[in-house]
Amino acid sequence: MFDCHVHPDYSPDATGSIEEYCRRAMEIGLSGICFTTHYEPDPERSGIEWVMVRGRRQPVSSDWPVQYLGDIARARVDFPNLRILAGVEVGYEPGVDDIVGKLLGSHRFDYVLGAIHCLDHVAISSRREVEQMRELVVSKGARWAANRYFDCLEVAGSCGLFDCIAHLDIYRKYLLPCWQGTAGAQEFSEVADERTGLALTRLAEHGVGIEVNSSAIRRGQAEPYPSLAILSRARSAGVALFTIGSDSHSPDELGCGLAVVQARVRRLGAEPAVFVDREPQVPV
Ligand SMILES: [Zn+2]
Ligand SMILES: [Zn+2]
Repeated sequence: MFDCHVHPDYSPDATGSIEEYCRRAMEIGLSGICFTTHYEPDPERSGIEWVMVRGRRQPVSSDWPVQYLGDIARARVDFPNLRILAGVEVGYEPGVDDIVGKLLGSHRFDYVLGAIHCLDHVAISSRREVEQMRELVVSKGARWAANRYFDCLEVAGSCGLFDCIAHLDIYRKYLLPCWQGTAGAQEFSEVADERTGLALTRLAEHGVGIEVNSSAIRRGQAEPYPSLAILSRARSAGVALFTIGSDSHSPDELGCGLAVVQARVRRLGAEPAVFVDREPQVPV
């Protein structure tokens, strides 16, 4: 199996070097690994987002990809029996397109994942910012939050920057629970249900794939991101590409739950794809 969502210690919230991950991948018998370190380019968050290089904080706008891609190139030499790909997980907010375009024009990545990690510059996927997120979204209401999320998702899916969308229903993690046990939860789900269809059509139209992310399973949820219901709708809407990833933030999480998400993709009648030099392939 190929794990296509892996955070080495270039991501500030992850531990484990590229080499340590590769060793672990060999131990557990993965055929390949695609590193997808975080890239959070929103200028409004430049004071709180950074990249780690050799244990030191560097600005997101620094030349960290040179070291990152260099480490990956070295790992390919050191681990000749493992396929090792270089990806990046971009935290997308409308307006960052030029910054992301510049990164992708200057460095060669195999795989570019687009992720909605923030609404109005506040993180919705980080425990650290849960209180700030609640303050923002509860006052504006569940309908506003759901619509805002899907506005971002639709733009991310049609902006032409991304190969796949990561954890498409990540709002299940911290955002939707803001209204747990209240009418807001129902309101949020109604909007989400309504807007999922159009978002999936956008992805299909632009040839963008969907990542099936096993991290929710690792955290005790029954469904990966996205749910089986969304995956089935994606297939019907014409989405043709699906990748699988553990979203591991330490080597011991590598490959966790991959068998479950691989089975989900196969239930759709598809095989998990990998991206090499931005082109989808199905590994043999
Ligand atoms: Zn993510
Ligand atoms: Zn991730």
